[in-house]
Amino acid sequence: MQIKFWGVRGSIPSPGPNTVRYGGNTTCIEIRAGDELIILDGGTGIFPLSQTLFPELPRHMHIFITHSHWDHIQGLPFFMPIFIPSNDIHLYGASDPVTQQGVERLYDVQLQYSYFPIREAELNANMHYQSLSPGEVVQVGDVTITCVLMNHPVTNLGYRVEYQGKSVFFTGDHEPPYNLCKPGEEDWEVYEDLIQQKTEDMDAAMQNVDVLIADASYTADEYKQKQGWGHGTYETCIAMAQRVGAKQLYCTHHEPTRSDDMLEQVFEEALAQSSLKIDFNVQLAKEGLTIHI
Ligand SMILES: [Zn+2]
Ligand SMILES: [Zn+2]
Repeated sequence: MQIKFWGVRGSIPSPGPNTVRYGGNTTCIEIRAGDELIILDGGTGIFPLSQTLFPELPRHMHIFITHSHWDHIQGLPFFMPIFIPSNDIHLYGASDPVTQQGVERLYDVQLQYSYFPIREAELNANMHYQSLSPGEVVQVGDVTITCVLMNHPVTNLGYRVEYQGKSVFFTGDHEPPYNLCKPGEEDWEVYEDLIQQKTEDMDAAMQNVDVLIADASYTADEYKQKQGWGHGTYETCIAMAQRVGAKQLYCTHHEPTRSDDMLEQVFEEALAQSSLKIDFNVQLAKEGLTIHI
């Protein structure tokens, strides 16, 4: 299995001289497993990815969306294979929790004349939409993809992708659940039980994964101001990787305000300050970085 990062930035694209090394595109990951092409999220990184696909078109492509926030979908209208006949584009993701509409809404909403010159009905490829529920398992050829409900202000599905005994898990945007009550308050214990159960369920889905790609938007200090925004820290990702026995951890969803130098600095500080024994490979995700497992 081969995994390649095409976008590692959170929230908004951040191009420019200060982000050249890690890249400014928003979330997109390409996975090659045998003959299958699986894409996790359609942030702006999906556009440069699509530029590389022309020699192998037409073909089937499977795009799994973690959630509908802009930085994970805004590249979808620019995914070039949608304009080319005979391609089969399979788009998967959760139903919209507000409107109850299926994953097809991602294109419906973006491809309107107010925002884009081409309507969804005018796409030339064969479009296939499949709405997913937490816990659902999708089979793409010999590749197994399991959907896991993570913790974010909208429904966010993490994906475990397995092929020939190897596995990768991508959290999408995820903040470890925390107790909304204070110790001693009436519902504190109820929340504690819920958090424990939810954490156990998520950890079970990531167990012994070869590659864990996780939302590490903030430092521990920054998080104090941003609790409830739906993102993790370097520390929470390292703890998660250690709990589940991940062999490699890639921290992603980099803050758009961070330069390459700042990113490396806060990452090094987080590793140095960690009280946990880090006995696995941990790195910052980087545009263009390719992992073979
Ligand atoms: Zn995001
Ligand atoms: Zn989000």
